[in-house]
Amino acid sequence: MFHYGIDYNIMFLFAGGVASIPGTYTYPMVQPMTMFGCQTCGKQYRQQCSLWRHKHYECGKVANFQCPACSYRAKHKFNMLKHMRAVHNLTG
Ligand SMILES: [Zn+2]
Ligand SMILES: [Zn+2]
Repeated sequence: MFHYGIDYNIMFLFAGGVASIPGTYTYPMVQPMTMFGCQTCGKQYRQQCSLWRHKHYECGKVANFQCPACSYRAKHKFNMLKHMRAVHNLTG
């Protein structure tokens, strides 16, 4: 009735010295993709420069620039200027 465990032990002995014990198995040298994580908000980027840009221009920043002509908000002045030029055909 409960021979399953015995069979397992026999198999284990039979395989002794041939098969490795799970846990000591050496995995192929496939590295998981390196991701660069923001320590502040946890966002993940594949490229370090993307993380750098995020940290310097995005992370924790509030969209402070309100478009005078519509409800668009931008985190950076140059984005706002770009928006005003592109959408409202304004310069400033
Ligand atoms: Zn962040
Ligand atoms: Zn606008």
